[in-house]
Amino acid sequence: MGKLDGKVAIVTGASRGIGAAIVKKLHEEGAAVVACARSIESCEGAAFCQKVDVSNSEQVDACVKATIEKFGKVDILVNNAGITKDGLLMRMSDEDWDQVLDINLRGTFLFTRAVARPMMKNKAADGSQLGGAIVNITSVVGITGNAGQANYTASKGGVIALTKTTAKELGSRNVRCNAVAPGFIESKMTEGLSDEIKKSYMDSIPLKRFGKVDDIAKAVVWLVSDDASYVTGQILSVNGGMI
Ligand code: NAP
Repeated sequence: MGKLDGKVAIVTGASRGIGAAIVKKLHEEGAAVVACARSIESCEGAAFCQKVDVSNSEQVDACVKATIEKFGKVDILVNNAGITKDGLLMRMSDEDWDQVLDINLRGTFLFTRAVARPMMKNKAADGSQLGGAIVNITSVVGITGNAGQANYTASKGGVIALTKTTAKELGSRNVRCNAVAPGFIESKMTEGLSDEIKKSYMDSIPLKRFGKVDDIAKAVVWLVSDDASYVTGQILSVNGGMI
């Protein structure tokens, strides 16, 4: 028996990296998972894949509608899609600011808004409130700030505030909302960083290893499961002790 038997989940940014690992783990725990990204053909463990740009409200609403048409409900949302467009603040273009905010922060808002009502309506056979669980993927640098990432850190700091507000607005209907703040995780997002930057990150990690995508996926599974049924509005750092 899985921790998430009978649950229906949507995961954004699921074509690779942390998102793909989250899909696999949710599936292993028994959930039916809808995997979303702008370009996605297949994803191990997904019940179906959906091409969605999270910054486009029509596509987001259509994805939630398609999920409910197929499965009758949505219990879990993981807002994982994210991008970086790094550069020093003084030289950052309007486009690079807007694109990162649109995908990382607006996308999280759009999907949260789209699932809020369906999750609030989730009821058990005896009429009790089942609600739902939302996990937003933020970042250690959304807490600390980071030179060269004004757009990214602002978006991830915004995700933290949005997480706390969502928890306060939807808590009375048993919809929980938490965030996971990864440190340095091995993925496409980090593989292009210079050896110098990687070394400076490694020097700041007490556990002396970079994180794996599964380290994040396991934290997400815990937060969406009943094991965390009294946890909401929290930011769970998974960073090897970096901060
Ligand atoms: P990744 O390997 O670059 O994957 C990003 C995913 O997001 C891809 O599936 C990508 O697919 C999707 N995506 C990007 N823009 C999208 C959009 N507009 N609509 C829908 N999907 C979109 O990155 P990752 O390392 O797995 O990161 C996943 C999350 O963890 C991000 O939010 C990131 O900020 C956060 N994070 C990562 C690290 C790290 O060290 N890796 C640390 C802290 C936080 P498409 O391009 O096909 O759309």
